[in-house]
Order: sequence, then structure tokens, then C-alpha cells
Amino acid sequence: AAKAAGGRRHRWYASELDSQAGEEARLGADLRTALSTGQFHLVYQPIVALPAGDVVGVESLVRWRHPDRGPVSPADFIPVAERNGLIIELGQWILRTACEQYRTWQSRGVAPAHVGVNVSARQLAEPGFVDSVAAVLAETGMSPHDLVVEITETTVFGGGVAVRAVQELHELGIAIALDDFGTGHSSLGVLQAVPVKILKVDKSFIDNVTVSDRHAVIASSLIQLTGGLGLIAIAEGVETAEQAEALHRLGYRRAQGYHFGRPVADPFAPRSDVAAQVAYRG
Ligand code: C2E
Ligand code: MG
Ligand code: MG
Ligand code: MG
Repeated sequence: AAKAAGGRRHRWYASELDSQAGEEARLGADLRTALSTGQFHLVYQPIVALPAGDVVGVESLVRWRHPDRGPVSPADFIPVAERNGLIIELGQWILRTACEQYRTWQSRGVAPAHVGVNVSARQLAEPGFVDSVAAVLAETGMSPHDLVVEITETTVFGGGVAVRAVQELHELGIAIALDDFGTGHSSLGVLQAVPVKILKVDKSFIDNVTVSDRHAVIASSLIQLTGGLGLIAIAEGVETAEQAEALHRLGYRRAQGYHFGRPVADPFAPRSDVAAQVAYRG
């Protein structure tokens, strides 16, 4: 039996855990309801060419407006959806919605070169995932060449069959982007393991590119690396014109960040629609 003090501490700790588990279960249940009642939507952030800033692609990002809590960040709910398995269904909805939106842009003649979709480890490890992607492409009439699947190091090394699934996506003609590059333990290991076409250089390397020589050297060597491997580098999280200029000088030709555009419901909406959206929000 535990000593009195230890026992008390233990009970306190256990009730903390209980409330954490309760919160996890509540959020997980709310996520299921959210999917069946249409509480999710996607926003799209432009990816631009440097230095002119022409939009060459977009990344889709999921949003959840909880009926009581208001907006919940994907950084908070995606991990919960991964743990309770809902990410499989939610991920399918995200992929289908992004492809349908891209096809709508095509029909309006405003589609960028590609749309990116973030895919989590649990999805890639799910048997039949690649087939389900192929099915969505066929049903929406989307070309695999217009789709970019964004993965991270943990996506690749998180589960046994993930490397194989990434290989199969590549064989379908889908481009693979390695997200948050440089933040993991084995970023270079991923490059050896899977057929990556795009490196998204993490915001943490971009933030101080104008103020720290060390960061500039790292950003510069990452450009050398991508060039040498025949890959495309995208600088993530560019927030200022100074950063954009510095990155262009270092050799970056693609960038994404608030400086160029925040994620919005439709970056290609006619101006009158944008005005209407703003008016509606206000
Ligand atoms: P990520 O894939 O690396 O997405 C980029 C994140 O950086 C987005 O946050 C975006 O809004 C934010 N961002 C872009 N430019 C800037 C900038 O200039 N400054 C700052 N401070 N932030 C910037 P978001 O939308 O909150 O998403 C966070 C993460 O959640 C994503 O990181 C991704 O890992 C995950 N996520 C988002 N949507 C999805 C999805 O549809 N499926 C999956 N599996 N994960 C998603
Ligand atoms: Mg991403
Ligand atoms: Mg990223
Ligand atoms: Mg990220």
C-alpha cells in the first residue's frame, strides 16, 4: 500500500488523469458529431512564386467551429481524431472536399497548379488508404498530377506500412511534400526512405532568416540540398517582405505565409464575393 502522502499525491494525479481522459473523450465524441453535422470546413492558403508573388498552388487546412467552444485549432483536434480513429473518415472528407473545390476552380478557370492536402500517419497506415485516394480522384475527376499530399517525418516513420503507401501514392502520379522539414529527428532519413518532390522548410528556420547568420546559413544549405536532389523548396511561414527578399536572395523560388496570404475559404473568389464575405463577417 502507498504511504499516506504518496497516496494522496497519487489520488490527485489520478483525478487529473481522469479529467484529461474525460476531456479527450468529450472532444472525441464532439468530433464525431461535428463530422455528421457539417461543422468542418476547409480553408486554402496560397503558395506563391518568388519574387513576383504569383499564386502557384494552395494548401488546404481544416477548420472546426465547435458549437460551444468556437473555433478549435487543428493542432488540438487532429491528434484527438488520430487517437480515436476518426481521422480516417475526417481525412476522407478533407481529401474529397479539397478535390471538389479544385475541380470547381478548374471549371471557373482560376485553378492554381495544385492543391495540397495534409495526411496523417494513421491514414497512411490504414489498409486500403491508397485505393481510397484513387477512388476520390476518379469520382471527382481530379488528376493525380494536380494533387500534392503533405506528409511529415512522423507520418512516414510512425507506422510500418506508411513508407509503402507513400511509394504507391507517388506511383499514382501524386506529388509528395515533406512538411515541417528540419524539425524532426531524421529529416534526411525520410528523404532516403520515400520519393519526396517538395520540401517545405519549417517556419522555425524562416523566422530569423533576416536577423541571424546561423539561420540564414541553414536556410541556404537547405536550398543547396533541394537543388542537388532536384526537389522544390517551399519556405513556410513567411510573414514579412524582408524575409521574402532574403529568401529570394538565398535562392528560394516558392513561399507560403501570412505575408502573401492567410488561409481563406476561397482565395480565388471574385472580388465582389470577397467584399460580400467581409461585409457578412462584419
Ligand atoms: P501545417 O501543415 O504545417 O500547416 C501550416 C500551418 O501554419 C497552418 O496552421 C497555417 O495556418 C500556419 N501558417 C501559415 N502561414 C503562417 C505564417 O505566416 N505565420 C504563422 N504564425 N502561421 C502560419 P493551422 O491551419 O493551424 O494547422 C496546423 C497544423 O494542423 C498543420 O500544420 C497540420 O499539421 C495540421 N492540419 C491542418 N489541417 C489539416 C488537415 O486537413 N489534415 C491533417 N491531417 N492535418 C491538418
Ligand atoms: Mg502542411
Ligand atoms: Mg508545415
Ligand atoms: Mg506544421
